[in-house]
Amino acid sequence: MQCDYLIVGGGTAGCVLAERLSASGKYRVLLVEAGGPPRSPFVKIPAGFAKLFKGSCDWNYGTEPQCHVGNRQVYVPRGRMLGGSANMNALIHQWGHPADFDDWGVDGWAWQDVMPVFRKLESELVFETNRDAHPAANDFVDAARQTLGHRHARYNGKAYEGAWISEIVTRGGKRRSVYDSHLKPALRRPNLSVITGSKVHRIVFEQERAMGVSLMVGGELRSIRASGGVILSAGAIESPALLMRSGIGNGYDLEQRGIEAKVHSPHVGRHLQDHPMAVPTFATVHSRTYKSAESLPNLLNYLFRKRGPLASNVAEAIAFARSSSELIAPDIELLFAPLEWRKEALEPPAINAFSIGVAVVAPQSRGEIRLMSKDAYDVPLLDFGLFSDANGSDRKAMLSGMRLARRIASTSPFSEHLACEHAPGTAAQSDEALWRWICEEVQTVYHPACSCRMGDAGHAVVSPELAVHGTERLWIADASVMPNLVRGHPNTAVAMIAARAAGFIAAA
Ligand SMILES: Cc1cc2nc3c(=O)[nH]c(=O)nc-3n(C[C@H](O)[C@H](O)[C@H](O)COP(=O)(O)OP(=O)(O)OC[C@H]3O[C@@H](n4cnc5c(N)ncnc54)[C@H](O)[C@@H]3O)c2cc1C
Repeated sequence: MQCDYLIVGGGTAGCVLAERLSASGKYRVLLVEAGGPPRSPFVKIPAGFAKLFKGSCDWNYGTEPQCHVGNRQVYVPRGRMLGGSANMNALIHQWGHPADFDDWGVDGWAWQDVMPVFRKLESELVFETNRDAHPAANDFVDAARQTLGHRHARYNGKAYEGAWISEIVTRGGKRRSVYDSHLKPALRRPNLSVITGSKVHRIVFEQERAMGVSLMVGGELRSIRASGGVILSAGAIESPALLMRSGIGNGYDLEQRGIEAKVHSPHVGRHLQDHPMAVPTFATVHSRTYKSAESLPNLLNYLFRKRGPLASNVAEAIAFARSSSELIAPDIELLFAPLEWRKEALEPPAINAFSIGVAVVAPQSRGEIRLMSKDAYDVPLLDFGLFSDANGSDRKAMLSGMRLARRIASTSPFSEHLACEHAPGTAAQSDEALWRWICEEVQTVYHPACSCRMGDAGHAVVSPELAVHGTERLWIADASVMPNLVRGHPNTAVAMIAARAAGFIAAA
């Protein structure tokens, strides 16, 4: 089989890229995805995303012990299907803060450069303000606005700070991810082909030029050539792993694992980031929570009307705040959910409660991804380096966010729903007591990024045009190329990166 462009990975970036590169009809585009089509009913049901955790559509990664949070090992879900993580995420549609892109400091990627791309995507993506949000979500927004102030009717496209009901990628009570808006319609084009259930093992090179990939098809290792080049859209974990397995990475580390170093590129896999999050819970004075979201009336309401708790994305309202007035943009996000978010939803709610997730959205800490071995089936070693930043600003932001969540919980009208703080509980007042609880409970918001960051050769893995330094005809377009993780939910920023990548690749 031959093609002009071969895209590895059919997630957020892969879906947008496949649509864009095949649009002109000039190129034969092949998309290779390790998972299958998104057949699980929990993909479409907005509240069903956590039901996909640790199932067959989840890569189900975990981190190495995180030494700054009591050696806690953090669960890292990633979508393994067409649509990738966009088909198992919490559906929140957010561009990112203007300061995110200005802070990247990369030519051509400032806010003024990326804003028109977001605007264009806005007309292609399907989204709406969560129409099935619990009434208490509005009360959370009201209480948070009193606490934080509020300037904008919408957060997207603005230097946001304040609180809102989440904008989510649904229509008629069903998920409408980039798989639905971009890949599915493009599959009608004769010049776009997709192979599913096939894991790419390595990139095949002649000298420095990417000629195709080797991959598993039907239990056999085969090669596919791509005359125009290869684009990695395998996500922030697999894209650097694929580069390293193919001999692009830190030469010393590669040789330790028996991999011949083709290009010494010491930043591959480094600078990895995610948003750490802890989730305080508050017992309610009533039983109107999503503890009973799967009750028969709720199931019937969803089945016949696509309404009710199952049509909601759970993280129904968001608030952004600064831990210090000296910051130019928010570093804390609060996420309201009308249920007890218990052990990352791997356990059902035990009590009637509401949750306020506290996320550090401008983390300074960074970690890395390394290979365990050269075997394509060995899971890479992940270390987010949570709270490892030298000046402790991530810890300060987290503690400040915890106190802010408490302030909002004690502000009317939201406070009228609440009986008491369930976890960590009001006995935890000092920073030390709060931190002990955070160490037991911390997770991430499932936003790994920055492991193949863009910038100049010598400091980065890809150029501002997303071409892999030291190679020819090899690009990366996914969450891994962000120099810093955006403040908030990155899916739409990844779609923006992919839309721009298509232009760079076609012009190369
Ligand atoms: C549970 C969860 C909740 C989230 N909530 C939100 C949210 O509400 N809003 C938001 O904006 N963001 C959210 N995110 C994050 C967002 O979905 C991701 O940042 C985004 O999808 C990343 O896109 P990507 O293209 O980089 O990677 P992915 O979408 O993960 O795509 C990578 C694809 O590559 C495939 N692949 C990997 N390796 C190979 C290989 N070797 N061969 C072939 N195929 C391969 C994978 O199977 C996958 O389909 C969430 C993520 C998760 C997991």
